[in-house]
Amino acid sequence: MSSIWLRNPLAIFTGNDSDAGGGLVVDTDSGTITELVAPGRSPTAAVDSTYEARDHVVIPGLINTHHHFYQTLTRAWAPVVNVPLFPWLVNLYPVWARLTPRALELATTVAMAELMLSGCTTAADHHYLFPRGMEDSIDIQVGVARGLGMRAMLTRGSMTLGQKDGGLPPQHAVQDPDVILADSERLIDTYHERGEGALVQIALAPCSPFSVTTEIMRDSATMAQEKDVRLHTHLAETIDEVDFCLEQFGLRTVDYLESVGWLSDRSRLGHGIHFNDEEFARSTCSGCATAPRRSPPSGP
Ligand SMILES: [Zn+2]
Repeated sequence: MSSIWLRNPLAIFTGNDSDAGGGLVVDTDSGTITELVAPGRSPTAAVDSTYEARDHVVIPGLINTHHHFYQTLTRAWAPVVNVPLFPWLVNLYPVWARLTPRALELATTVAMAELMLSGCTTAADHHYLFPRGMEDSIDIQVGVARGLGMRAMLTRGSMTLGQKDGGLPPQHAVQDPDVILADSERLIDTYHERGEGALVQIALAPCSPFSVTTEIMRDSATMAQEKDVRLHTHLAETIDEVDFCLEQFGLRTVDYLESVGWLSDRSRLGHGIHFNDEEFARSTCSGCATAPRRSPPSGP
């Protein structure tokens, strides 16, 4: 075991009432805090190294609950800056279709490095893009997360509702449901870690109501239940999406979510904005975690 004492920080937030003004000791092998040091005191056992933290504030690692690492490479693409979500997506689908394994590895590395530099130690990524040659996208992301030592929930996203069936994505961007489910099972069985200290977890993440079929929503919920993993999706991000659900399914977004078996504490929703008060209360009371924003987003 090797240890480091973060000594006498300017301030420290431990999440409990302990007075740890003298800092804390970390077991750097396991990444766990082994001692909170009282003000003016030294650690009870010898440490391998000491970091003078008097100019620093020590806080728990921040958590990013929704990201799209691959978009790091296109986020400043001038033709779509500040356009609404649907045309933003329609213009970017052909660009993203040319994603390569090396580009995804680079994008994931840059995204995770940016997050860690900001104090974030855990991130959830929603990856739903699997063009030809990118079947190992989640495998690539697992490799980057483990290499950087960042805790990550990597979600096996999916798109099954192409333009010919009334969806938004082009046909080349959608996958066969059987392929999605088989890959989802493989990824869970191969990479999903459980219990305290888990570094990488897998979740199932159909992209959004306007890009997946009701069947893949239901089948994903069933597999998540069987495998005991989380569910993630976009919901009510724009008024266009609310209108799409009414036209396509005859339901508002939260009613649609309930109809496919997703209204539970297994689910987390990204970009949830356009809920009315009743829908917001119903989704949160069910244990469904939402990250609502009351004003329209500046970007998808
Ligand atoms: Zn998103």
